[in-house]
Amino acid sequence: MISVEEALEKILISMDVLEEEERAILDCLGQVLAEDVFSTIAIPPLDNSAMDGYAVRSEDTRSASSQFPRVLRVIDTVMAGSISQCEVEPGTAIRIMTGAPIPNGADSVVRFEDTDDAERRQSTGQQLPTEIGILQEVAAVSNIRQAGEDITNGSIVLSRGTVLRPSEVGVLASLGRSTVKVVRRPVVAILATGDELVGINQPLPPGKIYNSNSYSVAALVLRYGGVPKILGIASDSESSLRAGFRGFDADLLITTGGVSVGDYDVVKDVLAKEGEISFWKVRMKPGKPVAFGTVKTVGEGGVSRGIALLGLPGNPVSVMVTFELFARPAILKMMGKKNLSKPIIEAVIEDCIVNSDQRRIFARAIVEERDGQYFARLTGPQGSGILTSMALASGLVIVPEDKAGVEPGDTVQVMMLDWSKEI
Ligand code: AMP
Ligand code: MG
Repeated sequence: MISVEEALEKILISMDVLEEEERAILDCLGQVLAEDVFSTIAIPPLDNSAMDGYAVRSEDTRSASSQFPRVLRVIDTVMAGSISQCEVEPGTAIRIMTGAPIPNGADSVVRFEDTDDAERRQSTGQQLPTEIGILQEVAAVSNIRQAGEDITNGSIVLSRGTVLRPSEVGVLASLGRSTVKVVRRPVVAILATGDELVGINQPLPPGKIYNSNSYSVAALVLRYGGVPKILGIASDSESSLRAGFRGFDADLLITTGGVSVGDYDVVKDVLAKEGEISFWKVRMKPGKPVAFGTVKTVGEGGVSRGIALLGLPGNPVSVMVTFELFARPAILKMMGKKNLSKPIIEAVIEDCIVNSDQRRIFARAIVEERDGQYFARLTGPQGSGILTSMALASGLVIVPEDKAGVEPGDTVQVMMLDWSKEI
């Protein structure tokens, strides 16, 4: 039996970063940028107003006060999206809206609140007053957003390797980019095995259970940025499994079930016969019987090729835990990501966990923060078939293989699955 680290190393060594592709920016969330993005424009393109008000020459506002307003002649009005053809000359002002380019001659904007704009418009009934009283002095370059203050023309705005989040998508849009070059998303084929399994849209005959693993795995693939391809259910025979290995193309094949030591656990047998086993069994709990290797598959076009196969256990909790530990980093590596680990925090454990057989335990726990300190308590029974324990959990408490257990009050490491229930 190998350690979690050894298993992960063997998996990662056989995963390559995938090719680059040009995609619409909204399809790229979570993908890694495969180009340096340069700006071909300045943002903002022109000096523009940060306020609704009057564009003035600041010297024309000297010693202005509400008692002694400086009255300027209003020569134009300019809205965001248009450019005034007038020039602000001494003694004049242009009414200006937020985002509108600063007219020639002006060096500052006086906000409406510092003028008598409201009173004048009310008393005259005019949309555009012919004169405006400035009630407060403004310094030069007040209330102006300068051209290029966000992005200068020709600069590198986002560099290759950046993971695209909503803010980067917004920045790309601000540059007028509708597509961008990114590392492609891995396609992950998912094959469930088990004579007992029934599809979720079928009636449930006695003795059978619904195939939940394909869906928890597909949802995890989606969450971490891959493209899931659910292949269906293979029964517990070598021939059915072999048939399941045909007719699809993918970057990784994940099977669930059939990797234990039972009479019908055929996945590892087929992997041994038809491909190459890299490892089988990891010193962890849940999830010991995880297998990894390469199998021969036949693609959609009838071309046969070897494909990495990650054989996850059948138990629904083991599936999700081993996915987080092994499939997730594999997917992230293929996507070109550098940070492959989940956040690990320290918490005070509030329950007892016994480690009877020197495996690394990943116990489902609810993590809470109280007074700046994290506390973790178990979700309840820890059977690897109790999938609702995963639904309750926000983290996995790690008990190292060389520890006999933990007691309430001990400090433990917790691998966080979610920081909150909302994401
Ligand atoms: P196995 O490793 O194939 O012996 O499966 C271990 C346990 O997980 C058995 O109780 C199976 O019924 C259950 N199991 C296997 N595959 C699935 C699946 N796709 N969905 C739900 N439970 C499963
Ligand atoms: Mg089975």
